[in-house]
Amino acid sequence: MLLSKISSLKTAASFASNTIRNMSNIPKNRLEGKVAVVTASTEGIGYAIARRLAQEGAKVILSSRKQNNVDSAVSKLTAEGLNVTGIVCHVAKAEDRKKVFNEADKLGGLDILVSNAAVNPTTGPVLDCDESVWDKIFEINVKAAFLLAKEGVPLIRKRGGGSIVFISSIAGFHPMPLLGAYSVSKTALLGLTKAAATDLACENITVNCIAPGVVKTKFAEYLTGNEAVSDHALTMIPMNRFGVPEDISGIVAFLASEDARYITGETIIAAGGMSSRL
Ligand code: NAP
Repeated sequence: MLLSKISSLKTAASFASNTIRNMSNIPKNRLEGKVAVVTASTEGIGYAIARRLAQEGAKVILSSRKQNNVDSAVSKLTAEGLNVTGIVCHVAKAEDRKKVFNEADKLGGLDILVSNAAVNPTTGPVLDCDESVWDKIFEINVKAAFLLAKEGVPLIRKRGGGSIVFISSIAGFHPMPLLGAYSVSKTALLGLTKAAATDLACENITVNCIAPGVVKTKFAEYLTGNEAVSDHALTMIPMNRFGVPEDISGIVAFLASEDARYITGETIIAAGGMSSRL
């Protein structure tokens, strides 16, 4: 029993590393000529999204709070021959968001906006959350996502249409026991997606959302980094492996492409089969 579990875990781990290495089938020109803004994109899921959009031909504006992280992400991607630039942007700061959108404006407008930043400063049941922590979670995870979309839309209109993608979480469908307030903030993004999609549908602007499961990044280290916890977490994932950022980035590229032009208001769950909805 134990041996068969170890063997299936090894198969899952090897699948994940092959997934990352096998980039030869990425469409090279699907996003040619598009300008993309990806927030919180100097590591983790945001970095993989920025990389994938650039690999498919977009000009990508990377951002996060720390200049050294921005510089290092830009130089890594530039070394791969990708067309990226970077700006410091703490998503809750109006002046930072303005700088990002000014950069897009200089490039002629915006085609793709990916709102990816989130925080989770606390763990515990939802009603134990301090008011100040609740406000922080909603300021970054929900209000900043709303403001980014509100401020980005005029630039998308300038291009005659485009796509907005919000990054939610499986926890938005099925609250995680210790991530109460964070889970509620991620549920709010599902509603924001539906509401904005309906309003913008007739303007050739799609608004969609992705709900990742447990993805191996710093953000999820408490679940993936400790063997006792991760063994238990894996039992809830039918694919028997944690996600990798590249499991999410290709979905964003698809949603931002012409292939997805008739899809709006949807949330794609990418969680290895974790229980979510019917
Ligand atoms: P991560 O690996 O911890 O990456 C965090 C990134 O966000 C870094 O580039 C960080 O750079 C930047 N950042 C943090 N706070 C920011 C802020 N206020 N403004 C701008 N940038 C900020 O996180 P991740 O796992 O990739 O998570 C990305 C998104 O996926 C989040 O929305 C998260 O809720 C969602 N998600 C993750 C998982 C998972 O299991 N990992 C599951 C479901 C959903 P600086 O430090 O330089 O700011």
